[in-house]
Amino acid sequence: MVRGPRRARLPGRPAAHPQHALARGLRDAISRQKLIRLVTGSRLDTVEQDRDGVVAHTRGPEGTWWRGSHLVGCDGARSTVRKLLGIRFPGRTAVERHAVAALRTELPWPGEALLHRQPPWRGAPEEIAARPLPDGVWRIDWLLPPRGDLVTPDALVARIRETLAGWCDGTTPRTS
Ligand SMILES: Cc1cc2nc3c(=O)[nH]c(=O)nc-3n(C[C@H](O)[C@H](O)[C@H](O)COP(=O)(O)OP(=O)(O)OC[C@H]3O[C@@H](n4cnc5c(N)ncnc54)[C@H](O)[C@@H]3O)c2cc1C
Repeated sequence: MVRGPRRARLPGRPAAHPQHALARGLRDAISRQKLIRLVTGSRLDTVEQDRDGVVAHTRGPEGTWWRGSHLVGCDGARSTVRKLLGIRFPGRTAVERHAVAALRTELPWPGEALLHRQPPWRGAPEEIAARPLPDGVWRIDWLLPPRGDLVTPDALVARIRETLAGWCDGTTPRTS
């Protein structure tokens, strides 16, 4: 990403995908795999290992015990699997707060991702990033101060308006 007081375009063309489309694509791919069974709404809460493999318990509508040769924990940064195995996660947590919105609009630089550091208008955050998604949708991220109030829907709409006005010479393009 390029640093500068004005809008700076990201070099290259990073691929951006809307999260709901990515999640649906992954689900579709999994559904074609005979060896995978997707169990939603369940949380792993117990893991026991013995000489022959692993036993795991999930709670939820289909709360049950599962047995297998291996267990792979892909359960995120606060991994239950990691904690159940007593594995520490040394290091410091870097807290970053963002407000994120996906909206259909027209920006003056169609199809280009950008990072805008220190936008010049009053009340602007340190950084705003915009990534083009398919169908004229943009995902916009505002870097927020580490501590502060929750972003209400009204505050988000105000932020969208002031950002679009800042980028479009004071006019707000049609947005949905
Ligand atoms: C607001 C925000 C915006 C982001 N934007 C981007 C971006 O634009 N591009 C990018 O590359 N990254 C982005 N990231 C980071 C990205 O989301 C993470 O790096 C990525 O999701 C990590 O993937 P993961 O599979 O390790 O964990 P996760 O995506 O967190 O998946 C973990 C899964 O495990 C499940 N789980 C947790 N505990 C249990 C349990 N006990 N039992 C059963 N299931 C459990 C969770 O429900 C979840 O489905 C963003 C993150 C945030 C918070």
